[in-house]
Amino acid sequence: MATIKANYDAMQQTSNELSNESKRIFRLALDIERIMTKIPMKCTSQSLAKLKMARQCIGLTTVSAKLMKFAVNLEEIKNSYKDADHRVLVGGDIEAYAKYLVDNANGELSEDDVRRIKNTLDELDDVTINKDITEEDREKIRAFNDLYEKTHPEEAKKLKDFFDGAPDNIKDHIDCIKYIAYNSEGDAHDLFFKYIDQCKVVDWNYSGGIVNYNCQLKGIRINFNDDNTLNDKVGPYNTFFHEVGHNIDDLMSNGYDGKGDYFSRNILANGKFHDVLYKDVENNFKEAVLDYSKYEATFGFYNDDFGRIDSKGQQKIVDVLMGRKDSSTLNYREFYAYNNIYEDYTGYKKGYISGDFTKSKYDERIFQWGDEYGNGDRAQITDIYVGTVENNSLVGGGHGIYVDSTDQKYYWHDVNGNPTYKQNSEFFAEYFAYKMTKDPDMETAKNYFPEAYKTMDDGINKFLREHN
Ligand SMILES: [Zn+2]
Repeated sequence: MATIKANYDAMQQTSNELSNESKRIFRLALDIERIMTKIPMKCTSQSLAKLKMARQCIGLTTVSAKLMKFAVNLEEIKNSYKDADHRVLVGGDIEAYAKYLVDNANGELSEDDVRRIKNTLDELDDVTINKDITEEDREKIRAFNDLYEKTHPEEAKKLKDFFDGAPDNIKDHIDCIKYIAYNSEGDAHDLFFKYIDQCKVVDWNYSGGIVNYNCQLKGIRINFNDDNTLNDKVGPYNTFFHEVGHNIDDLMSNGYDGKGDYFSRNILANGKFHDVLYKDVENNFKEAVLDYSKYEATFGFYNDDFGRIDSKGQQKIVDVLMGRKDSSTLNYREFYAYNNIYEDYTGYKKGYISGDFTKSKYDERIFQWGDEYGNGDRAQITDIYVGTVENNSLVGGGHGIYVDSTDQKYYWHDVNGNPTYKQNSEFFAEYFAYKMTKDPDMETAKNYFPEAYKTMDDGINKFLREHN
């Protein structure tokens, strides 16, 4: 595409610098070339010969002959050239051209129309949606959406239905959300458009707490405050797609049953997705403990009175981190290790374990809840770890550090201490929001949940194949 763009720019440049007479000849050359392209020609040499003949017929000068040759070169990249030429003829900037295509592509679209629309969409899809968005960006977004909707009327209709009833003052947000949704890819895109017209917003200006999806109310309660939109701490419009994710997760399992049957809780991994999550978390703890043991061995900071931490001791530390055992079950050496690892995980030491390990692999474990939970980025990691482990001191006391429930205390576990499996649905919602918004934090999250990501990818793909 770079060559084509260069050629196109060169053509425009040439055209601008020419005298009026040359411009006329240039246009003439283009016209001849256009006519020539309608005559079936096997190869460029043939087309050159024909052009040469045409040139002789109308007595063009050497300069214009060169221009003609230039035009022929462009013909070799025929379609792109035709589009470039088409845009020159139509005039205006990319937004104006998009509008022209919207206005003129009616009824059955020709092959040329389809290609031109696709190329124009490709040029319009590079807006980064964040708080620095400009009015120019917004124009581009609107041009993209209009053109996209022209060629994807079904998707346009579904989003129109979903936003029916939305207040007028969120129009700019709707433009951004549409832009994100239309530009999303793969299974997440398919899943979104399979269900979005069934998703419901029951309150567009919710002020009764943290925005949420409520399975009993069968809908989303949201507001479009700064915090939930461009300045969303997790990522622009993450909250919106997170709540839509919950709504879809619910719909995927028996539709609106009001009972909290969710795909991620009841169907995925045969209803055992929480086991996959727990395993990922445990593996990460195991790795941390093993790393610690290695550093300990390297630096010789073990006390002969207590010995090195053997594999049994390592498992004990993991069990305490997971909340299966109390820290009083650890011996001195193990407790010391546990404390260092715990500090690392909670961010107490901000990436440095205690002692003299000033720089270590622990520096990379930068998802400490202490700091980053507050910042809100990497929300998936912090949410799920908090919801998975049952180590009260590790998660800051109590089972229920809130995520998005008004009933904070019994969010992860019910009154009887049984897991609610909301870990599963929180994972789903965040996975979905990451995919829809193409959030780069997803790559970090994948390192912490390798199996969960794979299970979710495969599970959604299978579901879509079975429910198309
Ligand atoms: Zn949630």
